[in-house]
Amino acid sequence: MKLSEILQAHIKENGPISAAEYMALCLTHPHHGYYTARDPLGRKGDFTTAPEISQLFGEMVAVWLLSAWERIGAPAAFTLLEPGPGRGTLMADVLRVTRKYPAFGNAARIVLVETSPVLRERQRAALADYAVTWHDALPELEPIPLLTAANEFFDALPIRQFEFHQGVWRERLVGLAHGGTLQWRLSQEVADHPLLPAGGAEGDIREVSDVGRRIASDLSRHINAYGGAALWIDYGHGGGVGDTLQAVKAHAYHPVLEDPGEADLTAHVNFTHLADAAREAGCTPEPLITQREFLMGHGIFERAARLLASASPSQKKTLLSGLDRLTSPEAMGTLFKVLQVYGNA
Ligand code: SAH
Repeated sequence: MKLSEILQAHIKENGPISAAEYMALCLTHPHHGYYTARDPLGRKGDFTTAPEISQLFGEMVAVWLLSAWERIGAPAAFTLLEPGPGRGTLMADVLRVTRKYPAFGNAARIVLVETSPVLRERQRAALADYAVTWHDALPELEPIPLLTAANEFFDALPIRQFEFHQGVWRERLVGLAHGGTLQWRLSQEVADHPLLPAGGAEGDIREVSDVGRRIASDLSRHINAYGGAALWIDYGHGGGVGDTLQAVKAHAYHPVLEDPGEADLTAHVNFTHLADAAREAGCTPEPLITQREFLMGHGIFERAARLLASASPSQKKTLLSGLDRLTSPEAMGTLFKVLQVYGNA
């Protein structure tokens, strides 16, 4: 049975489903989920991410982790956690840099959270030299400080969508058209979510990721209790924007309700929601900055200059194009944002 048929049968039986249920089924269904069944990354896949574009990205995350570790007093044991590690490239680049700082390396307990068996295998290969433990979901963490970094993880988490229609908020749901194809509709009931504004303009759309807020909250509560810091990088915004749910297949946009499970589904991350979750857990989120500001602040141009000095002509080309894609405002530089969260201990 294809995922579209499973969805049709499910909706026929139980009625329309939320965007969050649709995303969760499309991305992580145990047999047909987009991430369950394939490695979607790289030029031949559906999309490419910053760590896959250039080693410079992971190197700057390593600089951030080292300074965060010093800032919390260089603890002799801490959890180094990455949710949604993809091919393991970011963590491999981080550990390559931090090998020069054995006290950090010896203190780090590496934990990865990954739902996809295919990507887990890629991570196992990329990190064969290190002791790593894997979990399907955020595990109960050891009572020690936590340093965590995530790139393009929160955008893959399910969101609910709400639309302001004739004076009230209703939820956008996926139902069936007469021929059985999937179709958007509004809930009959008036929607009730604590993060919805009181009023709106006709047609306004708001998105909320309860799963993302929960994960941000759980990580922040641990940081508040035991010390640590979090670094969350993703395409996103500070709130107040409309429909950002999008499907991407073979590096091109694809209709969201077409070919469920065959295309990547993501939503732009509402960083205000994540920062609020961190603050409510007792942590201090720094003001949201762009990926460009973050990478420049951690020395990406200086590092690139050093690598360029001894690079071959073809390496130079790769380095410069990677640097440009990561930092330029026309590419990922300003669309991608960075939220840093620190504990108060
Ligand atoms: N961070 C990587 C990969 C980004 S793609 C990079 O930058 O290249 C999103 C990643 O999150 C994949 O590894 C995917 O399998 C994982 N993922 C998606 N939904 C998840 C969930 N609910 N729990 C854990 N991991 C998830």
